Amino acid sequence: ASHGESRAFAADVAKLLHLMVHSVYSDRDVFLRELISNAADACERLRYEAIANPGLVGDDAKPAITLTVDAEANRLTLEDNGIGMSKPELIEALGTIAHSGTKAFMERLDAAQGDSANLIGQFGVGFYSAFMVAEKVDVISRSAGTAEAWQWSSDGKGTFTVTPVELAEAPARGTRVVLHLSEDGKAYTERFKLQRIIKDQSGHVPVPISIKDKPDAEPTEVTDGAALWTKPKSEITAEDYTDFYRSAAGQFDTPALTIHVHAEGRQEYSLLAFVPSAKPFDLSDPERKGRIKLYVKRVFITDDAEIVPRYLRFVRGLVDSADLPLNVSREMIQESPILAAIRKSVTGRILGELEKLAARDDNAYAEVWANFGAVLKEGLCEDFERREALLGLARFKTAASGEGWRSLKDYVGALRENQTAIYYIAGEDAARLAASPHLEGFRARGIEVLLLSDSVDSFWVTLGPDFEGKPFKSVTQGAADLAAIPLLDAATPPVSDTAPAVTDFIAFVKTTLGEEVADVRASDRLTDSAVCLVASEAGLDRQLEKILASAGR
Ligand code: ADP
Ligand code: MG
Repeated sequence: ASHGESRAFAADVAKLLHLMVHSVYSDRDVFLRELISNAADACERLRYEAIANPGLVGDDAKPAITLTVDAEANRLTLEDNGIGMSKPELIEALGTIAHSGTKAFMERLDAAQGDSANLIGQFGVGFYSAFMVAEKVDVISRSAGTAEAWQWSSDGKGTFTVTPVELAEAPARGTRVVLHLSEDGKAYTERFKLQRIIKDQSGHVPVPISIKDKPDAEPTEVTDGAALWTKPKSEITAEDYTDFYRSAAGQFDTPALTIHVHAEGRQEYSLLAFVPSAKPFDLSDPERKGRIKLYVKRVFITDDAEIVPRYLRFVRGLVDSADLPLNVSREMIQESPILAAIRKSVTGRILGELEKLAARDDNAYAEVWANFGAVLKEGLCEDFERREALLGLARFKTAASGEGWRSLKDYVGALRENQTAIYYIAGEDAARLAASPHLEGFRARGIEVLLLSDSVDSFWVTLGPDFEGKPFKSVTQGAADLAAIPLLDAATPPVSDTAPAVTDFIAFVKTTLGEEVADVRASDRLTDSAVCLVASEAGLDRQLEKILASAGR
């Protein structure tokens, strides 16, 4: 297989490969996780295709991933009996950048200026990470159900070749990745090292993984490919969950919350979901979808079933349904009323588990809120049915809370005498909001004011929500209505609005500013400052006005 035409990698691949070859990333072990995850994906895709077309798997239906060590030749081989790749698929998949994480990695790379090591750790970079340990990589693949096999080869230096190979030289079905290890990669011919890495990184991949010590040795199983989510919770340790999360989601952090449910009754499904402890890089990308995979009776169907609403897009994991039909198309599954019921149920479960975490562990929940609160609040605009639950989950900084977070329950529990509204001030920066003169009169009365500094805040508050019967009211809008609420320091009585000094001053300001303002009036809002601007009761809040103006509306 030596006279294949040579093709150039897409420019961004060449750049990435250069980085891999000269890798400064110390944790090279991740290449194994990436290759194993590709092999497992290929097995799962085949399992799905074989439902409609059982001929694809024939007698050999059991998925398997086998690693073969050849210490003498300094070679490590990974073989799967998955779906395989045709010639055009090889060229497309291994000549361009498909992996969304890899794409994002490349985008960040220029900005990060030389900190690629740290970035690789955050993103994981798919197939090309093989070049961290190999000076040459061969990929020999036979697409399931076809009678031809192809070999892709590259030394990672700008070009690759694709050549036909004899069927006898190729796997009967699936893909063999041969790593010709570099000096740095030598250690990956040690069986025990491989075994440990596989258990750590890929211990819960739903395809069994075996190792052969030598090319002619018998394989021994390292992991059994049992689906973690089907096991009873009592048999699963926290470590198992973390390992699963890391290998399934390609993450490196420890989940902040693990949700594992076997639902029975109207819908029967298993849910295994994780709230990450680190913010995903594309959290605010409007294209980002939910990250909950859909399985049916352990067969992977799609990661695009939008199981949870957009405001839960930070949650990772999977749902495995026992009720959905397997023998229909993905599209039909997506539209099934059973799936609609599962979506609803899963969303409710996740919110319920967040509530439980909040009740159980303030600090842990505060961290979740700090990372994902701004996303959860989008639900206040989109999901009216769950608005109450979401308001219950919401946490706020207030003018008096310092670094701490307040719930609305706390807020409403500490209302001042005669206080009938939940007051807020919206803007870009919590510290600046806290210093606003609009707060003076509130502070003097011991009234808490929520500091709303996420851009989504200006929207949901205008939709007229209330919490336990208390409406939300902007302190920068309309009359402040504070007269009925006593000052904390009773020694400074409020100046009467009708005192001549006040009415004369107002008249003066009105004639001076003329048409520039709609009204000028005395207010209980201020104690130290002389004046402040407020929006009218009927119009938009000032912050929303600003956002809309900057969006050109
Ligand atoms: P990702 O797995 O996120 O798509 P990778 O860089 O890991 O990105 O892999 C690129 C593509 O190469 C995969 O999407 C898949 O189409 C193909 N591929 C890689 N390894 C295999 C394999 N063992 N079997 C079949 N296809 C594979
Ligand atoms: Mg991959």
